[in-house]
Amino acid sequence: MASAVERFFSVRAKIAAAEREAGRQAGAVTLVVVSKTFGASDIRPVIEAGQRVFGENRVQEAQAKWPALKQAFPDIELHLIGPLQSNKAKEAVALFDVIETVDREKIAAELAKEIARQRRSPKLYVQVNTGSEPQKAGIEPREAVPFVTRCREVHGLAIEGLMCIPPADENPGPHFALLEKLALEAEVEKLSMGMSGDYETAIAFGATSVRVGSAIFGSR
Ligand SMILES: *Cc1c(COP(=O)(O)O)cnc(C)c1O
Repeated sequence: MASAVERFFSVRAKIAAAEREAGRQAGAVTLVVVSKTFGASDIRPVIEAGQRVFGENRVQEAQAKWPALKQAFPDIELHLIGPLQSNKAKEAVALFDVIETVDREKIAAELAKEIARQRRSPKLYVQVNTGSEPQKAGIEPREAVPFVTRCREVHGLAIEGLMCIPPADENPGPHFALLEKLALEAEVEKLSMGMSGDYETAIAFGATSVRVGSAIFGSR
């Protein structure tokens, strides 16, 4: 069976091929390796193979494993890709370099407060619930652009991107296209979309980063 490192190299090669096929520049797409549920001993070989950008979906789980890894590899860039509770904003600002899941006013206000207090500014993306699924985090598509504006004008936050997780049972293409359209309207540059099953499609639709977990670490 292939190792995580072998699968990591294979995902990287597929990203490069998808960039070429889509007429995108080489290196236009950042691979965010999603390490949730996996421990430091699983993650370390992938870091040693050269990967520096990782994603976690729970603040507490990330706090348990990443401070030591970040100390050993100071150029790690850690993304929060799971829902953020406002009582965890302090910890999230302290640990993460990119928070991809800003999706409501209260979180925006808490993040603004912590960014000012800690003098640490993680990059921020707004999560959009492109499928309007009731159980899923993210702001409704029609509220996304005004919300980005409010984040900027009311809370003074620099929003750099949008993120989405399309419904599991739907063709993801229309969701990726919607996210790209909203990003143009909101004037943000980063598009975080595509996971193990659909990252090549997302690259064709303009993803600037893809979040890949199980295709590298295996099933959770
Ligand atoms: C777990 C997770 C991923 C990675 O999913 P895979 O299908 O394992 O690649 C990507 N994005 C988010 C938000 C996740 O929670």
